[in-house]
Amino acid sequence: MRTELFIANTWRPAASSKSFEVINPATEEHLATVQYAGAADVDAAVAAARTCFESDAWQGLAARKRGEMLYRAGELLATRRDEMAELETRQNGKPFFESKIDVTMTVETLKYYAGWTDKYGGNVLPVESGDFVFTDRVPVGVVGAIVPWNFPLNLASWKFAPALAAGCTVVLKPASETPLTALLMAEIMEQAGLPPGAFNVIPGGGSTTGAALVKHAGVDKISFTGSTAVGQQIMRDAADTVKRLTLELGGKSPNVIFADADLKAAVRGAQTGIFYGKGEVCAAGSRLLVERSVHDQVMEELVARTKKLTPGDPFDKNTRLGAVVSKKQQETVLSYIAAGRKDGATLVAGGNAATVNGKGYFVEATIFDDAKPGMRIVDEEIFGPVLAVVTFDDVDEGIALANRTIYGLAAGIWTRDVTKAIKVARAIRAGTVWVNTYNLYDSAAPFGGFKASGYGRDLGREALDGYTESKTVWVGLR
Ligand code: NAP
Ligand code: MG
Repeated sequence: MRTELFIANTWRPAASSKSFEVINPATEEHLATVQYAGAADVDAAVAAARTCFESDAWQGLAARKRGEMLYRAGELLATRRDEMAELETRQNGKPFFESKIDVTMTVETLKYYAGWTDKYGGNVLPVESGDFVFTDRVPVGVVGAIVPWNFPLNLASWKFAPALAAGCTVVLKPASETPLTALLMAEIMEQAGLPPGAFNVIPGGGSTTGAALVKHAGVDKISFTGSTAVGQQIMRDAADTVKRLTLELGGKSPNVIFADADLKAAVRGAQTGIFYGKGEVCAAGSRLLVERSVHDQVMEELVARTKKLTPGDPFDKNTRLGAVVSKKQQETVLSYIAAGRKDGATLVAGGNAATVNGKGYFVEATIFDDAKPGMRIVDEEIFGPVLAVVTFDDVDEGIALANRTIYGLAAGIWTRDVTKAIKVARAIRAGTVWVNTYNLYDSAAPFGGFKASGYGRDLGREALDGYTESKTVWVGLR
């Protein structure tokens, strides 16, 4: 297991020799002691990324060759899928089958952006004067990527794959709970042929290592996924250097079931919408809005299914609910469950901490019915396996409730009425709206938020726009 800093294709201890511990949240076992990057290490990583960015090895490399390296990284990762997925599950607590899906998507994202390298560019503009005017897309430079612990490798790849494809170089700071898969990815990137400094990984703390990266004058852009509060701090810290930002922040996404939906499918979608990834999913359908006439039927089926969803060993192939990421996160989730009871919502499933084989930071799959706006479980992001169910009477009320949030990351709509689906999809202020499905992602489909869920987009062609500057070149012809 790799536990040192990866800078300029070399493994090295932190300048201060400081380190931190990584714990398996399902077993409470110590997993690794990882080097903690301090300010001097951030400087070294940024210098390596800058030197590479300006070097012939990188600037002189044909775009297609960069693509070949990314494609090779995808192929190498595919051959090590189970090893990578096992490491992800050990540090995060999610079921092994989910980690395999995460790694598969990372492979796809690498290959998807590999394919863009020689297809992405600017335009020739038909200006009035008849001069020759074109736009070029120029890599933004050194990118600092800061990612959370819920999809540690996959979300990192949503940043580093398009950044490298665009011709940037990357310094990645993984979350403190989950640095290990980013470090294994570094080994793969080197094997794929990336030159020293193109891809660097510096584990460490958010307010120290992360903040130093954000404030660093040698970093041109920060691409961040995490909480809204930290996103706001990053905006403040980025101001002095006028740093470019992509911010993928929190969510409290509505999953709206209309009476005319395929209710079996809607109930399945409601269940996976909140309990996949233990609810530690930025786009989790954490507010279930149900039309009153089908409320009882939906709840009966949903509660019955949820009661069967018991926490289990993440490596058991039947487990569909793993451990939450840490004791601290478990405490946060339990405090929200206490708030739901206190505020008068009706607990209809779960509600307790759990252990598996006497160990681990698990929380039961939990549902509150009779939830109302104004309750903390309805208004605030919990980031755990807790669903708040709110009832509505008609389409307008459903839309109003869906939009009654500071967030705007995602939403789900369940209906057989095409007109209704399109009208409601248009009316919801969110970056992704799923219709008759939930929690689906693809490297080709841009993902990101409205409102307090941030701005900028990961994935798709749009992510490349975020890692490039537009340069207008005007050639006078008269
Ligand atoms: P977090 O506390 O915001 O941390 C995210 C990352 O930022 C971590 O690497 C963290 O380091 C670092 N960080 C913390 N403070 C920082 C600072 N002042 N300057 C620079 N970096 C700093 O989020 P989390 O607790 O890991 O994850 C949960 C949150 O992420 C939820 O709110 C969730 O909605 C959001 N999220 C959003 C998306 C999305 O795509 N929109 C996806 C996943 C998660 P440490 O680990 O050392 O604290
Ligand atoms: Mg944190």
